[in-house]
Amino acid sequence: MSRSFDAAIVGAGPAGSATAILLARAGWSVALIERQPFPRRKVCGECVAASNLALLDALGVGAEFDRRAGDELRRVALLRGDDSIVAALPGAESSARRWGRALGRERLDPLLADAAEAAGATRLQPCAVQAIGGSAGAFRLRLRPPGGGDFAIDTRLVVAAHGSWEPLPAEREEQREARAASDLFAFKANFRDAAIAADLLPVLSFVGGYGGMVVADDDLSTLACCVRADRLQALRAEQPGASAGAVVEAMLRRECAGVRDALAAAERAGPWIASGPLRPGVRLGQGDGVFRVGNAAGEAHPIVGEGISMALQSAFVLAGVIGGDRGRLLDEATAGAAQRRAISAYERLWRRRFARRLGVAAVFAHVAIRPALAGLAWPLVRRWPGVLTEGARWSGKTRSVPEAARWAGAA
Ligand SMILES: Cc1cc2nc3c(=O)[nH]c(=O)nc-3n(C[C@H](O)[C@H](O)[C@H](O)COP(=O)(O)OP(=O)(O)OC[C@H]3O[C@@H](n4cnc5c(N)ncnc54)[C@H](O)[C@@H]3O)c2cc1C
Repeated sequence: MSRSFDAAIVGAGPAGSATAILLARAGWSVALIERQPFPRRKVCGECVAASNLALLDALGVGAEFDRRAGDELRRVALLRGDDSIVAALPGAESSARRWGRALGRERLDPLLADAAEAAGATRLQPCAVQAIGGSAGAFRLRLRPPGGGDFAIDTRLVVAAHGSWEPLPAEREEQREARAASDLFAFKANFRDAAIAADLLPVLSFVGGYGGMVVADDDLSTLACCVRADRLQALRAEQPGASAGAVVEAMLRRECAGVRDALAAAERAGPWIASGPLRPGVRLGQGDGVFRVGNAAGEAHPIVGEGISMALQSAFVLAGVIGGDRGRLLDEATAGAAQRRAISAYERLWRRRFARRLGVAAVFAHVAIRPALAGLAWPLVRRWPGVLTEGARWSGKTRSVPEAARWAGAA
């Protein structure tokens, strides 16, 4: 006999765990399903914008985040070739803590997933969702633990929070066919003893890619970047036999003085990890009766480091739409129509809250990646470094979503 839940949430990244916490608190029975065992390293720049700190408080993990995260990030530097331009980061608009900080995903994600379990969610981990069958009010998910032995759970509503880099099994074939030279592959490594000022967020621009560095928790620095598929292929052809991470690190040290200086006396802690292809964009409107949060709903180019923000904030937007309407959304007689209406309402709000962030991030990414555009932009940024401060504001760094106010002090 299969187990049965009000909502099944696929993926326990920040979006999935935040959704699980909020729905469990609203009295829903929730299954939070995660493919990987935690803690796990994840490709990410690991900066959490200050606009989310109140959300972490509301989710019950703010104090632990404050205790563990790196220093307040008050300045941004743009690094390209031998040059760098430094500017102030804007403080958050309506938060007691005005500055973002970085925390490794091997700490942040378990913190949130543990909080979901403490709020009453059932955690099925490690367990991969293999298939989603049925429809609103009567879904059946097939789950696979490591080593096999598939089993099913029944659920009345499904929230996809599986990110964007690992398609659900049903989507895999479609993604395999559509590889393109402009696809981005993402890389991350951690370093000890890197020479990076603790309050500085260096952003890297190089031919065919962009990236960032930061000092996170335990004085461990993170270097994360995205490289176009065609550039990566060319780099690998120059160094046959070397791992992709090794050729990316060699290229960054060679082409970016800021990285070379920062890593001069540093030691890598753990291997390079990679993921991709990344295809930033909106993934809503699929008409499959599934709610989508975080990267599964839409992904901004990571040059603006707003993915964790959008993951957390979209969970609050979704919980605002569905959290208080459990009866109609889950009742077998009304679930179909009620969930369809709720998906439309949620997706409208999602676009209103986040579409601009995606657009701004895309502009910055294209300028950073293309030498001709970067060459044109550089003298302007040098003359007016405040554009970096404004850019951080335009990309959403200072603002949360209004839905969050409802949950303030709820933990
Ligand atoms: C190079 C780079 C740098 C970045 N830097 C930053 C930054 O500094 N700040 C920032 O805010 N954002 C940053 N981002 C973006 C950020 O990492 C993502 O936007 C964020 O992780 C999205 O969260 P999520 O919860 O939607 O998905 P994810 O964090 O991707 O979590 C999805 C989870 O679902 C699980 N899963 C997948 N498929 C299944 C399945 N079938 N069954 C069960 N579980 C499944 C995965 O194992 C994973 O744990 C960066 C991204 C990149 C690539």
